[in-house]
Amino acid sequence: MSYDEVAADPLSNPVGGPDPDDNIIHLFWLQGMGCDGCTTALLAANRPSLEEMVLGTVPRIPRIILHHPMLDDDSGPDFMSAYRQAVEGTLGAPYVVVLEGSIPDDQSFPGEGYFAALGVAADAPQGMRATGRPDQPLRVSDWAWAMARRAEACFSIGTCATWGGIPAAAGNITGSMGFMDYLGREYRSARGLPVVNVPGCAPIGDNFTETLMQVLLYFDGAVKLPEFDELGRPEWMFAETVHRHCMKAGYYEEGVFAHEPGDNECLVEIGCWGPVVQCNITERGAINHTGGCMIAGGACIGCTMPGFPDKYSPFYKAPPGSAVSGTVSRIYGGGIRRLRRLSMTAGNHTPIWDRADHIPSAWGIAAGQKTPAQKVNAYFYKKLQYKGTVNHSARNKKQPQPGSRDILKQKGVDMSASVPVLGERVVTREEL
Ligand code: SF4
Ligand code: SF4
Repeated sequence: MSYDEVAADPLSNPVGGPDPDDNIIHLFWLQGMGCDGCTTALLAANRPSLEEMVLGTVPRIPRIILHHPMLDDDSGPDFMSAYRQAVEGTLGAPYVVVLEGSIPDDQSFPGEGYFAALGVAADAPQGMRATGRPDQPLRVSDWAWAMARRAEACFSIGTCATWGGIPAAAGNITGSMGFMDYLGREYRSARGLPVVNVPGCAPIGDNFTETLMQVLLYFDGAVKLPEFDELGRPEWMFAETVHRHCMKAGYYEEGVFAHEPGDNECLVEIGCWGPVVQCNITERGAINHTGGCMIAGGACIGCTMPGFPDKYSPFYKAPPGSAVSGTVSRIYGGGIRRLRRLSMTAGNHTPIWDRADHIPSAWGIAAGQKTPAQKVNAYFYKKLQYKGTVNHSARNKKQPQPGSRDILKQKGVDMSASVPVLGERVVTREEL
């Protein structure tokens, strides 16, 4: 049953989408040199969630048949048979490949050695290198190479799979690398796509499921090919820096900096790389639009970036560039901050309090009167603010005070007399 047929008769299908058996795609998960954090991130996604994609309830995208070494019900030969069919071209349905963790350079081993494995020689598809005993593990690097050929699309999830990440850091004895490095510049999927990269350590789960959904919608013809940047990242997620959307950016602008993690202020002087790191966690949050590095008081250590972690370490030191930008921000921001405090003080007065020169609050700091400097500042500020428009400040000054007992009492007004108040004659109800 097609999607249009279902749309015309929604009751024909309880989930309101195409018949799941007509519209499926297999998703083969490969785990290289990683920590399973990307799988955890995937499980936390909710726009869309993995469950929605597996149940086929996302309109216009096929129901996903997930093959995941950690999440699958099956194990052993039962689990491996679909992988083998995919390589041999007998699966009978399209598939995509998702790599979590980096690809180790175990291809350079002459014999049976491996760093990351999936299945054993007895599960090997025809043509895949499987030497030695039937229980000899098969290399993930062999699976990745063999499966990428027929895949509709290949995805890297997380920084290890995209750029090499932690396994590829200095001292990289496994020769680890990203999926893109391994498949090479010329690689294209069966649908003509280079590897799609969704970095992060761990990534935001929604970043991955949304990207997968967009690509599947493109395959369906529902949308144009989403925009990817020159490194294969979803452009709409990774074009902006962390800093631009950081909730602490106002502190940076005013030159106020944290002394230790967890402080409210901007974290740049204790190692935040946010001004130069492309990541959307400050817009999207970590899970379900909540949390994230700066919300938790943590500095950005550049985990989405190529070259992480070495290019952003040591994590406890401020980035060298922050000495220049931080100093400029301190000087410029310090002046701006003081001017803003003046305006804030003026802004914390109602016109009634201004006229009475008194705040009827028992909360210490609010009870003080404006200083002469503040009055002068407020005068010129209002002049500029209302220039060319209705001057509400002047109108307010002419307003008679309300009959608040406290304010009038402070000004020594006889409460038994109704007029005049503060030099203004109160218009009686009858005159109005
Ligand atoms: S904490 Fe980092 S990202 Fe946020 S404003 Fe400071 S430098 Fe920018
Ligand atoms: S803000 Fe920085 S450390 Fe946090 S997820 Fe983004 S890139 Fe990684």
